[in-house]
Amino acid sequence: MKNNILEIENLTVSFDGFKALNQLNFSMETGELRVIIGPNGAGKTTFLDVITGKVKPTKGTVNFKGRNIRNFAEHEIARMGIGRKFQTPRVYLNLTTRENLAISLNPSKRLISTLLGRRNSRPKNITLAGLLETIDLMEKGDVLANQLSHGEKQRLEIGMLVAQSPDLLLVDEPVAGLTDEETEKVGQLLINLAESHSVVVIEHDMEFVRQIARKVSVLHQGSVLCEGSIQDVQNDPRVIEVYLGQPMTDVHA
Ligand code: ADP
Ligand code: MG
Repeated sequence: MKNNILEIENLTVSFDGFKALNQLNFSMETGELRVIIGPNGAGKTTFLDVITGKVKPTKGTVNFKGRNIRNFAEHEIARMGIGRKFQTPRVYLNLTTRENLAISLNPSKRLISTLLGRRNSRPKNITLAGLLETIDLMEKGDVLANQLSHGEKQRLEIGMLVAQSPDLLLVDEPVAGLTDEETEKVGQLLINLAESHSVVVIEHDMEFVRQIARKVSVLHQGSVLCEGSIQDVQNDPRVIEVYLGQPMTDVHA
């Protein structure tokens, strides 16, 4: 229990009576890389919305590092150490790769925190050069972001998240629309990041899930249907039923 970065109990989110999440239970160890799959409308994005504080639970609790985050605003939760990558890259297209990363390292915000006497939890050892290496864009540092491929933009945005030194990274469908080669690179990046972060990845590309996954949780109708290795969940009759017998590679989240 103590080593769980996330501990979620009986989580219910109702939108006008419709339960997007329904008594969901979920826990994840610190340092884990967890993949979440599930059919369209299963509640995957809502799940991330609750963890980041964008949506408040109707019932239930979300504990992050042992702390109930219910009464915290989105920006406070981000500051507590949760970083989220949305599906479409949110990078500044008219700035270079290096400039985008520099903004996320964000000295002005750190200065304000210092002036307000807040503890700056960001480790000093994150450097621009180190970030460029992490995301494998050393050669593209001075290139404008609008010149980057879709996959390179995704990696840049992941780098921008890492610059903020989150403990938990939430990544929503990072390889949608990428070539096989780019997909593989994003996968390797997430595997590398998982050495020093806890990571939740939502994805439906099963080839990619096979590349990165250790443990998979399947969401269905707002609850966790089953959890296990990729083989376990793919062979689980309940999962096959939910995906209506289609090959899971063809199912879009
Ligand atoms: P997924 O990401 O797994 O496709 P979502 O979390 O986006 O699923 O949505 C789960 C269900 O909740 C869907 O039926 C969706 O229509 C509904 N839903 C999501 N957000 C809202 C909202 N703000 N208001 C009403 N219904 C919503
Ligand atoms: Mg979604």
